[in-house]
Amino acid sequence: MSATSASVTRHDWSLAEVKALFEQPFNDLLFQAQTVHRQHFDANRVQVSTLLSIKTGACPEDCKYCPQSGHYNTGLDKEKLMEVQKVLEAAAEAKAIGSTRFCMGAAWKHPSAKDMPYVLKMVEGVKALGLETCMTLGRLDQEQTQALAAAGLDYYNHNLDTSPEFYGNIITTRTYAERLQTLSYVRDAGMKICSGGILGMGESLDDRAGLLIQLANLPEHPESVPINMLVKVKGTPLAEEQDVDPFDFIRMLAVARIMMPKSHVRLSAGREQMNEQMQALAFFAGANSIFYGEKLLTTANPQADKDMQLFKRLGIKPEEREEHSDEVHQAAIEQALVEQRDSKLFYNAAV
Ligand code: SF4
Repeated sequence: MSATSASVTRHDWSLAEVKALFEQPFNDLLFQAQTVHRQHFDANRVQVSTLLSIKTGACPEDCKYCPQSGHYNTGLDKEKLMEVQKVLEAAAEAKAIGSTRFCMGAAWKHPSAKDMPYVLKMVEGVKALGLETCMTLGRLDQEQTQALAAAGLDYYNHNLDTSPEFYGNIITTRTYAERLQTLSYVRDAGMKICSGGILGMGESLDDRAGLLIQLANLPEHPESVPINMLVKVKGTPLAEEQDVDPFDFIRMLAVARIMMPKSHVRLSAGREQMNEQMQALAFFAGANSIFYGEKLLTTANPQADKDMQLFKRLGIKPEEREEHSDEVHQAAIEQALVEQRDSKLFYNAAV
């Protein structure tokens, strides 16, 4: 397949085709991905989101990679749902350091009727600050999905994690079909979808390809596709998994870019363990979104000022949401970083 023809948006990928993409020589794959990327995006812009854990720990699900699962003893303190005001303060701070999207995550199987009014208030408040809003709250029913959309929720994050075939090895407390059902409610309510997966859980190449096929063959591609590298946390069943070859991780980003040419591909959890050269290669492969701020749910995120320095060295600018000139925006971010460096606000998300 030529690089040019690859940029057509498709929803009919086969396993053989996707494996052929993965198995190309590395340089051919990266050239193809970068070519596709440039057809749809400014190659020197990266979207920045901030993620805040609004309810941490004691999750009833048994996701084997997750320190927040109540099934494993990872020493994580469980917390109650954060106060709305605290969430809004964190969102204002995220905006001040240059984020355009504020993602709020709760460790729930699904939101309860008692918690929904607070969650809706958070969406309304964050939206009123001029930020895009994103939430991840677990399974939703149709009514909850519609209420979130009405409150102004822009994105719902609901990861498929891996292929349907491998899913049962990682999670037994919910099904793949339930995940797809929630994604379909989210689409029907008119919200954007953020959905991706994790590498390094012992999955095969077929499973990596299978995950991307599930995402790309949805009726509409998710607008945001987070690709995570497993962060091995002591106490979780995957703590001793083998490391992923960094080049295989880059290949995953490149194949995601080719298969979903108009989606933002997010270099997500695990970035802390990646050196700057690997992150630069990830951007070249088509990753154009990162989490930025003090914490990524419960795992450490590289410090925001380090990110900005890397952006500067690579000539990358944060993707704009407002009508500031680049210089004004960049200066505001740098100033805010100096002021906010010692802030404790984001430490509400427990380690
Ligand atoms: S990944 Fe989400 S659903 Fe799974 S255990 Fe962690 S918090 Fe719960």
